[in-house]
Amino acid sequence: MIKESLSVLILDASAFFIAFPVTEKVMTVPGVVSELKDIKGKARFEVLTSMGLVVSEPTLQSVKKVKEASIRSGDGSVLSQTDIEVIALALDVHGTICSDDFALQNTAQYLDIQIHPLLQKKAEMRRWVFRCSGCGKYYDLMPVDMTCQICGLKVRRKNK
Ligand SMILES: [Zn+2]
Repeated sequence: MIKESLSVLILDASAFFIAFPVTEKVMTVPGVVSELKDIKGKARFEVLTSMGLVVSEPTLQSVKKVKEASIRSGDGSVLSQTDIEVIALALDVHGTICSDDFALQNTAQYLDIQIHPLLQKKAEMRRWVFRCSGCGKYYDLMPVDMTCQICGLKVRRKNK
């Protein structure tokens, strides 16, 4: 019988401020580590490192894929470079992301990545409406170049 491999948890910065039990393999990106500026976060980092935390850069291919997905899901403007790297690493290793960040969860779910919320309830996948500022055409997804395929003007995200 094939042994089922352990899932990998990908931690964002908020995951370092909550002492939740870690039984799985844990990973994060260098950007998250540099965001841990206070003593509590650094102490937690030391503890997790002693438990086998791996810090790894995501592949450029996954970063590109996540950036594209974040534009299409409508979250591109609010995600930080670190958020994008967290999602990209999860994509690389088929990991589960530990985060309470709404935009991060939304883009991750768009890419079928599992989310493990820390304190809050998991966000419902958000659907934006995208509409051309020129001709008014509606789009289900933001075009990758964020411009209208009909008239070439800017497509904007609207709250429903
Ligand atoms: Zn248009």
